[in-house]
Amino acid sequence: MDSKTEQFYIDGHWTEPHSDKRFEVINPATEAVVGKIALGSQEDAERAILAASGAFPAYSNTTRQQRLELLGSIASVLKKRLAEAGGAVSSEMGAPLKSVAIPIQAASMLGHLKVFSELLKNYEFHEDRGTTRIVREPIGVCGFITPWNWPIQQVACKVIPALAAGCTMVLKPSKFAPLSAILLAEIFDEAGVPAGVFNLVNGDGSTVGTTLASHPDVDLVSFTGSTGAGVSVSQAAAPTVKKVTLELGGKSANIVLDDADLESVVFNSVMGFMLNSGQTCAATSRMLVPRARLKEVEAFARAAAEKIVVGDPSAEDTGMGPVANEAQYSTVLSMIQTGIDEGARLVCGGVERPEDRELGYYVKPTIFSDVSNDMTIAREEIFGPVLCILPYDSEEDAIEIANDSEYGLAGAVFSGSLQRAQEVASRLRTGMVILNGAQPDMSAPFGGYKKSGIGREWGRHGLEEFFEIKSIIGHNVP
Ligand code: NAD
Repeated sequence: MDSKTEQFYIDGHWTEPHSDKRFEVINPATEAVVGKIALGSQEDAERAILAASGAFPAYSNTTRQQRLELLGSIASVLKKRLAEAGGAVSSEMGAPLKSVAIPIQAASMLGHLKVFSELLKNYEFHEDRGTTRIVREPIGVCGFITPWNWPIQQVACKVIPALAAGCTMVLKPSKFAPLSAILLAEIFDEAGVPAGVFNLVNGDGSTVGTTLASHPDVDLVSFTGSTGAGVSVSQAAAPTVKKVTLELGGKSANIVLDDADLESVVFNSVMGFMLNSGQTCAATSRMLVPRARLKEVEAFARAAAEKIVVGDPSAEDTGMGPVANEAQYSTVLSMIQTGIDEGARLVCGGVERPEDRELGYYVKPTIFSDVSNDMTIAREEIFGPVLCILPYDSEEDAIEIANDSEYGLAGAVFSGSLQRAQEVASRLRTGMVILNGAQPDMSAPFGGYKKSGIGREWGRHGLEEFFEIKSIIGHNVP
């Protein structure tokens, strides 16, 4: 990274920040400084909003073909720089380079580019109902605020559909993981995104984030992060009556029914959960299992956790890196201690450092059993490698426990009978349910019920968040 990291990308240029505040980006694996960014002021954010407003009339009038070509060009540049993008992610938030940061984190953007390009190819921007025409038009200037856990993918699932829809935008990534976003700005520039269409301003949530949320010239603010910050964004946005979409936290349940193949289900569930050090909003952090099988489940879960190689994210065999930053590290450790204090039973892991890890924000893969749903570790999002196993007495009991959460982001059901799994899925109050470990679907909508959010990202539903809808009455000849 060069000195661009201390500049902002505004109106097609790398520009000097208004303020002299700086922030050091720390590699969580080594605790070494890997970059320095400028923290923007309200003026910086306003400059970027002005650029996005100025670019909107021309960009919103580009043709479907022009936007398709732009998405294609972004995909070509990204493919060329994929390893670099994954490297930035790994160094800023600690995901293992070869197994997660490049092939999953960075490559997820190629997946979104493919899905949104396919959608755009055939998308019906208007429909006729009798003499009325209903038109979908780009919503306008968008403000994007993103977190550190999937830093490329969370930017991609906002920026790509916004570009496809004809919107212009200002992005404020997390100050803990800004390096990949800076690289994305370079990629958009190289791919020919017109000046002012995409702008990047680094900074704090309370300055740049609040300016994006509250500014009258921003038509939509799309936020991904914690529920508390999402509430603040909504409050800041309310006086200007803009559209707000929120992708927030989760405490998702994985219901393992009594006819599931326990050994493989528990193994895959533990591995899936620990990917990205448990820092995935949709991760199923509550594993619900039949009480009569609790001991077996614990043994399978412990065996799975013991197979996870915790270590240097740049080493080939590393399965799990550190947690992403110091603040998260201390939150995770204090939640593990809370679990112990509240009487949950440690199956493996704990507050001690993993062996051979003197430096870095490393946490052992930690699994608690005999967790009851009223314990803090079952109610609050931990956002680290800490899995809770909760016993249930009947299928009905399992569904009740799963739904007894203020969150409603995701869930999973495993059963030997697909019909049984479908029936349970239909009763879960969450935005997504994965049955029997099915592969992710990037064209399916992603978002939450309850305090997990408002609106949807990904696929057609994600694209449609970026439209206003106009009814033109009497448009068609009767
Ligand atoms: P965070 O809420 O602290 O920060 C997220 C972003 O919001 C950052 O860019 C931050 O600077 C900004 N921000 C913070 N306070 C703000 C404010 N008052 N106004 C405007 N912007 C503000 O979250 P985090 O710690 O970066 O990320 C972890 C959280 O994100 C977890 O709770 C996780 O579940 C959630 N998350 C949700 C999803 C999803 O799609 N539902 C995806 C990833 C992460």
